Amino acid sequence: PRKKLIAGNWKMNKTPADGVALVKEIVAAAGKNNDVDMVVCPPFVAIESVGKALEGSNVKLGAQNMHPEASGAFTGEVSAPMLRAVFATHVILGHSERRAYFAETDAFINKKVLAALKNQLKPILCVGETLAEREAGSTLKVVQTQLEGGLEGVSKEQAATVVIAYEPVWAIGTGKVATTDQAQEVHAFIRGLLVKLFGDAIAAKVRILYGGSMKPSNAPELLAQKDIDGGLIGGAALEARSFLELINAAA
Ligand code: 13P
Repeated sequence: PRKKLIAGNWKMNKTPADGVALVKEIVAAAGKNNDVDMVVCPPFVAIESVGKALEGSNVKLGAQNMHPEASGAFTGEVSAPMLRAVFATHVILGHSERRAYFAETDAFINKKVLAALKNQLKPILCVGETLAEREAGSTLKVVQTQLEGGLEGVSKEQAATVVIAYEPVWAIGTGKVATTDQAQEVHAFIRGLLVKLFGDAIAAKVRILYGGSMKPSNAPELLAQKDIDGGLIGGAALEARSFLELINAAA
């Protein structure tokens, strides 16, 4: 059985001081939890101070994005070795907001995935369809293109450390959560694609998270689905109480 993973994507929220205050509460209540893998992903300016506040706890540190190159003339960007230097272990890649507002393509996201893996960072690769794509019946095709594009050139050994997040764009920040059947259908489809790409043993290990208006009230039902291995949480990760409730729901 796969250990569940609850990851908080803070997006563009929390100053370093606010972020530290939030994780202090999380660590006090759940820092020794061993039943669930826990990750918080603060904005870059808060990542180092939040990381220090997580020291000695089981809560891991993630970034929300990174550039594929290790260093150089890329104004405004941050690299995998930089994230390693502040003890990040995970990095969200290909979030739908990056795809939509910053024109990230599957090819560019793939470069980031490969760079993250080369630097021993675990990518949380996000995939998901828009409302128009779902209504046009192309959900599975869109997810397949994003998944295969994002994972091109990833070896079997590397694939075991990858996390996938299925985030239907129409469910993000809208309060409109996917039904358990809608989510499980896509999660099972992703599992099948992973079998084709990497074989049964690896596919059985990869965590596939659900993201999109996940909160304490709907989490238990989603997390009970066979192929839903955790959550990538936006809004409900910004408060200790709801984030802790989600951790408990996954335990
Ligand atoms: P919400 O939980 O706010 O819908 O955000 C989901 C998300 O995009 C996480 O990456």
